[in-house]
Amino acid sequence: MKHERVALFPGSFDPFTNGHLDLTARGARLFDRVVLAVAHNPSKTSLFTPEERVDMIRDSVQRLKNVSVMHFAGLVVDCARQVGAQTIIRGLRAVSDFEFEFQMALMNRRLQPGLEIVFLMPDQEYTYLNSTLVKEVARHGGRVKGLVPATVERRLHVRFGRRAGRRGKE
Ligand code: ADP
Repeated sequence: MKHERVALFPGSFDPFTNGHLDLTARGARLFDRVVLAVAHNPSKTSLFTPEERVDMIRDSVQRLKNVSVMHFAGLVVDCARQVGAQTIIRGLRAVSDFEFEFQMALMNRRLQPGLEIVFLMPDQEYTYLNSTLVKEVARHGGRVKGLVPATVERRLHVRFGRRAGRRGKE
C-alpha cells in the first residue's frame, strides 16, 4: 500500500484568514492529507477560543476534502507524531517572517529528526495579511470582506458589534 503523505499546518489562526486558506489549498494539492492544528497557547491572549477557531476553520475548508481540523496544546512535533505527519507546513510572506520561522524550523527538527518543514508562499494578494491586522481593522469598524472567509467575517461582526465592517470600499 502506498505510504500516505500527511502534512500538519499548525498555527494560532486567531482568526483564520484568506492567507491561511490559500496556504491550506496549496498544501491540499501537494499532500494526501493536511491536518490544520489550532494551537492552544494559554500565554497568548486570543480573541477566539480554540474551539471557536476550529469551528470557523471547519466551515471555511469544507470543500477541501482531504483537510481536517483539530486543536492541540504542547509541542508541534508531538502533535505531528500523533497525527502521523512527516511534514510541517508554514507560510512565508515576507523577509520579516524568515528569522522566526527559521528558528522554529530548526528547533522542531532538532526535537524530531526526520521531520521536514516546508514553506509555502501565498498569492501576492495575501502577503500583507495577518490575523492581528484583521482584528484591529474589525475592532475599529473597518471592512474585512475579502480578507477572511465569510464565516470568520460573521463572527467578527458578532464579536465587535454592528459597526464592524462599515468602513472600506464595496
Ligand atoms: P503563529 O502564531 O503560529 O505564527 P499564525 O496563525 O499567525 O500562527 O500563522 C500560522 C502560519 O500561517 C505561519 O506560518 C504564518 O507565517 C502563516 N501565515 C499567516 N498569515 C499568512 C498569510 N496572509 N499568507 C500566508 N501565510 C500566512
